[in-house]
Amino acid sequence: MSSESDKVLGWIDESRGELARLSDEIWRLAEVGLKEFMSAKLQEEFLAGQGFAVTSGVAGMPTAFVASWGCGRPVLAFLGEYDALPRLSQDAVPERRPLVAGAPGHGCGHNLLGMAAVAAAAALKAGLEAAGLSGTVRYYGCPAEETAGGKVYMVKHGLFEDVDAALTWHPGALNAVGMKSCLATNNVKFVFHGRTAHAAGDPHHGRSALDGVELMNVGANYLREHIIEKARLHYVITDGGGEPNVVPARAEVWYYLRAPEREQVEEIYAWLLDIAEGAALMTGTRVEVDLLGGLHNIMPNKTLAALAHAKMVEVGPNAYDEAELEFGRRIQAGLPAGQREAGLRAMRMPAEMFAQVIHAGVMPFSEDETPFPASTDVGDVSWVCPTVSMGAATGPLGQPGHSWQVVAAAGSGIGHKGMLLAAKVMALTGLELALRPEVVAAAKEEWAKRREGRPYRSPLPEGVDSPKEQL
Ligand SMILES: [Zn+2]
Repeated sequence: MSSESDKVLGWIDESRGELARLSDEIWRLAEVGLKEFMSAKLQEEFLAGQGFAVTSGVAGMPTAFVASWGCGRPVLAFLGEYDALPRLSQDAVPERRPLVAGAPGHGCGHNLLGMAAVAAAAALKAGLEAAGLSGTVRYYGCPAEETAGGKVYMVKHGLFEDVDAALTWHPGALNAVGMKSCLATNNVKFVFHGRTAHAAGDPHHGRSALDGVELMNVGANYLREHIIEKARLHYVITDGGGEPNVVPARAEVWYYLRAPEREQVEEIYAWLLDIAEGAALMTGTRVEVDLLGGLHNIMPNKTLAALAHAKMVEVGPNAYDEAELEFGRRIQAGLPAGQREAGLRAMRMPAEMFAQVIHAGVMPFSEDETPFPASTDVGDVSWVCPTVSMGAATGPLGQPGHSWQVVAAAGSGIGHKGMLLAAKVMALTGLELALRPEVVAAAKEEWAKRREGRPYRSPLPEGVDSPKEQL
């Protein structure tokens, strides 16, 4: 290994205590999207202390920030998140025990996600500085990944315009870098407005907004037969009126619509808008459409993914002590029979690995671009600059997503180990890009070829530059 990479890895190893402490503090704060004030501040202060120039409150979001160091090319962006999920408060123990009943928890491990990206940026800065190399290292503090999709606003504000490559990761069950994409999505509320009346006395004077919602949902459920198999349509009724003897004047239904490609989302969305209009027409009500946001699918980049995979193999997987394995076994024992195996099969994990408690290998590189059945605002970044995202094991195999089990592991030593692994892989990948401009050029060429004829259009409605709170 070169002396620069020794410096990068050395910085992470020396800082491990401080990184784990900050991750745990953000884990304990568990602030939900757009309210991550303390979490963002902790990262801002840490990076300022490392010599980064911090710009707070970017892209119309008080909890979004960019921390930058260095100058010139390449411009490398490390993407971090720090939002928690509602009602998942959980202690770092392998059985259900909320820290604060009903409070949020880091059910997607974003405390680890953010701190690994912070660490990668700071470690790369240390490596470049020691070697006297040029380059711009940035950390993007991206709020509300789970709700508003903060990165879509950061993209709309042009914050990635000069970026040569973006690097990120996600906590999970596997150490893996591949070419998998995810689903593009629209997040939209339909508010029906009718006219109230006494439901027994003079219902003929009323126009039920709830009827509008129900008929829209019936229409949407019939739509399902005529959409592509990989599309997803899900809704919840967020306002169904007050009480049965009052014809509801207002009702609201919240939809997520997903598909492998952005164009497919837009096509199905146009049909859904017609269905909403039709339901309003049938019920004599009026419908207001509130498009809360939309996301692109991830555009994979083989040049960057292959490089990151090589770095992950170089760093190697973590080893776990008996206490950590016991923690994992107890989480697994609490899962419904067959769930773990079904999850592992879905991840295409070879059957001989099913017996592992925590992934202790690195998945082979795969060019399979089949989308994960989930969505992320990293997608929009990948459409404006070459982007790589990787996974590192931060919990036991089989742990369900967005769960108290994830919160437990994300606050434990298992989570810390995965965070450090991700930080090392991202930092070494960044270092290689700084040392070899021809790899950056190849990544950009591949990206331009993939995007040809498909310019990026923000999924946000025109004039919308900052998100609304959604939780
Ligand atoms: Zn997540």
